[in-house]
Amino acid sequence: MQQIMITGSNRGIGLALVKEHLQRGDVYIFATCRNPDTATDLQTLASENPDALTIVALDVNDSDSIESAKNQVASQTEQLDLLINNAGIFPRTPENEALGKMTHDALGHVLMTNSVSPVIVTQAFVDLLKNGNNPRVVMVSSQMGSIERASGGSMSYRVSKAALNMVAKVLSGMLSPQGITVITTHPGWVQTDMGGSSATLTPEQSASGLATVSANLTSADTGKFYSYDGSEMPW
Ligand code: NAP
Repeated sequence: MQQIMITGSNRGIGLALVKEHLQRGDVYIFATCRNPDTATDLQTLASENPDALTIVALDVNDSDSIESAKNQVASQTEQLDLLINNAGIFPRTPENEALGKMTHDALGHVLMTNSVSPVIVTQAFVDLLKNGNNPRVVMVSSQMGSIERASGGSMSYRVSKAALNMVAKVLSGMLSPQGITVITTHPGWVQTDMGGSSATLTPEQSASGLATVSANLTSADTGKFYSYDGSEMPW
């Protein structure tokens, strides 16, 4: 049985990843989200799958919350096989990212959530991952973090996802002696609150691709940047 933890799993791609892995079966999922009390879709899934799903409170920007989540997961298992760092934000105020409008606080908050917090979350769960079967860490990044494809606009998001890609690369080196594979991914353009209704993929299509990529990983993949369809992405 695979033991999986997913951040930001109350909606969007994270929720679809929970459903996809439940459908595939033989899993136990720690589905994390900021507010379990209002995570009604997750609550329904948990009541339908009491032997396969626990909801865990986790705000990835809060070190106390990370510590509590780690303690809750560690009270139920000694191992994690797959950690998916999915939680992320895309600022909805492009006017604040025009020249002359950018601030330390606004840019810093996006960097904190999308780039720094995945480091701190992964660090907290390394002890459980070390005990996992073919342990893997999957970052949900974006093609917008690809420097080769970058153009103007969306400063904070692009920078944060480029940094997340480097996080995956650096962690892949730090964690390979412990047998932990780390990759970064592009989930496609997906119909979620973030991606909008014009996006080309449903959350189910994206999650299915990401789950297949995650399932097929070996240590030879560590440090790579994959699309949801399994192709390699340009850095
Ligand atoms: P979404 O629908 O906006 O969902 C974002 C998720 O992240 C929510 O569950 C949200 O929780 C969670 N989150 C945000 N800040 C958090 C925090 N501090 N602590 C814990 N959870 C937090 O976005 P999505 O489209 O599913 O995106 C998921 C990931 O895919 C993101 O990393 C995003 O950058 C990436 N991505 C998406 C697309 C796309 O087209 N949709 C394309 C490329 C990459 P709350 O409900 O509490 O806010």
